[in-house]
Amino acid sequence: MTQPERKYSYTGIIRDLLLNRIIEPDNAYFYFKHNLAVVFDQLFQFGQENLSEVCLREGYNIEPARFYFCDDAEVNALASRTNGHSTIEINRGTVEQLWDVFCHRSILQDPELADYKALNDFYEQPPHNISIGYIMLQSALLFTFYHELGHLVQFANQTSAAASLDERNMAAGTRPFEFWYHIVEYDADQHGAQQSAAHVIDFWSKLPEEERTNENLSRLIVVTLVGILGFYMMLLDDPETELYFYERTHPHPLIRLQWIYASLLDRISSNLSEVNVDNSAVLAETLRILDVYFRHRNMGNIRARFHEPLFQNYQWIMSYIAHVLATASGPQYDHLITNTIHRRPRVES
Ligand SMILES: [Zn+2]
Repeated sequence: MTQPERKYSYTGIIRDLLLNRIIEPDNAYFYFKHNLAVVFDQLFQFGQENLSEVCLREGYNIEPARFYFCDDAEVNALASRTNGHSTIEINRGTVEQLWDVFCHRSILQDPELADYKALNDFYEQPPHNISIGYIMLQSALLFTFYHELGHLVQFANQTSAAASLDERNMAAGTRPFEFWYHIVEYDADQHGAQQSAAHVIDFWSKLPEEERTNENLSRLIVVTLVGILGFYMMLLDDPETELYFYERTHPHPLIRLQWIYASLLDRISSNLSEVNVDNSAVLAETLRILDVYFRHRNMGNIRARFHEPLFQNYQWIMSYIAHVLATASGPQYDHLITNTIHRRPRVES
């Protein structure tokens, strides 16, 4: 089979970034011989088309904007504005490790995932042709792309010439704690959640009518959230890190899950009035499924370390989130995407 015609040239994008001295030659990762080349290429084509066409059409004011992969085995992503150029960079390790966690078929033999094996067997057939592991991987990657895009809009709304934020969740010592960092992450998460919801709605809307049940939608949302939360858990520099509030460079992943799932479900329920999803059941199920995936990959026991603290510390979590929301709407944060792009009237395509 011949390679389908590609709309954007990855080598052309890298050449442009090098010519304009936006990246160093060692940064760029050429994925063409990788066994996941198809995954890399799909993400690149999607990301570059979104930056070059959708963001331009919607007046995000981030041009020129480029998407590329960095030759680094760690899980990370980065948004930068350098010499008037916007870039979203995703480490190749992000794609590789997410694939490793979510796309091994053997995990679906676990009796705890029986419902999801049945769902997987169904979605793998035509016309869907997609495994739930791949939906998890794609959800994590698309959310990451939109999260970084949120940072690019934050940068473009500010006057500073250069800006950069990466997603490794580092303890104090790398940079001192500032609440400001948590606010911009919350803001980028809101954009990620809203856009991820649009993908869920799109996938859902194309299903045959008899498949569009409350139960199937709940499972689709759980699969999406497992992908997103799994990515953030992998970004913790110390996997033993327990629940925290005013620390580190990023809010705790379980706190981020609260506002991500609330925003995602809100967008879905306002668009799909015919279905009714139980929010707290979706959250509990997301943690249950993620726990199974992480146990299989020896990545820690989510139930013991996070699930119980989540419910024990619920009041503290809610007051921290209220503090984030109140601060984010304050006057010194008028560069946030939630205070600019998200305030415009939404045009549904
Ligand atoms: Zn971020």
